Amino acid sequence: MIPRSGNIHLTAEQMNILDEQAKSAWPIEACAILIGRTNKETVIINEVYLVANSDKSSISFKISAQDTIRAYDRADELESEVVGVFHSHPAPPFPSSTDLQFMRQNPVVWVIMSMPSGVVKAHRLTDNNAEEIGIRVTSN
Ligand SMILES: [Zn+2]
Repeated sequence: MIPRSGNIHLTAEQMNILDEQAKSAWPIEACAILIGRTNKETVIINEVYLVANSDKSSISFKISAQDTIRAYDRADELESEVVGVFHSHPAPPFPSSTDLQFMRQNPVVWVIMSMPSGVVKAHRLTDNNAEEIGIRVTSN
């Protein structure tokens, strides 16, 4: 396998929004849809679209069809795309086996925040497996 280097760029403000969402939802898993653009191996986030966890669970999350449609509409407005999914979970920030199944259905960048530590990692699907990519926090 050829090692690939990828990156996701978020602004400090966007990271802060994700952090606040995860903290306020805790112990329920928080989630968000990440809207932006992909330029070769780099994914640049334009907007964090906060959504509710319709599972209201501390061990799983689900984004409603209605929220998903709204996020896609918002992406269209911004002339961007849905490029990532964010969620927090009570484990290290690596995709669980359930997350991996959903990653195969939604092969965008998956950003996971471990709670309560707040450590964040990003993964995407490469050869059917989750591969970690770098997170670059840019100034606003
Ligand atoms: Zn998870």
